[in-house]
Amino acid sequence: MKPMRMSQNPLRIVESACPKCFHRLDAVDSVGEGGECIPPLPGDFTICIACFSVLRFDDNMHLLLSSLSEVPIEHRALLAYIKMTVEEAAQAWNAKGGRPWASH
Ligand SMILES: [Zn+2]
Repeated sequence: MKPMRMSQNPLRIVESACPKCFHRLDAVDSVGEGGECIPPLPGDFTICIACFSVLRFDDNMHLLLSSLSEVPIEHRALLAYIKMTVEEAAQAWNAKGGRPWASH
């Protein structure tokens, strides 16, 4: 059971480790408008739930370290919002004590 979901339909992806913190990421949440389920494609951006790094899928759907400045301007605000949402969820989770955020 993951501690938080941003959508009702997390998509399973080929497991790939975050290049920064090596947290294994094996699911992504839809960031499409209207809550539709959009599988990630090469070149898409995502956020590591463990270290909040901006990541990008390469042509083989492996994760590369990226940054907000690489995100197309029309998607940057959305990704920044998601990053902030994940960070706040992690802070709220950790403030409760017990099992640390994203530890498994
Ligand atoms: Zn990470």
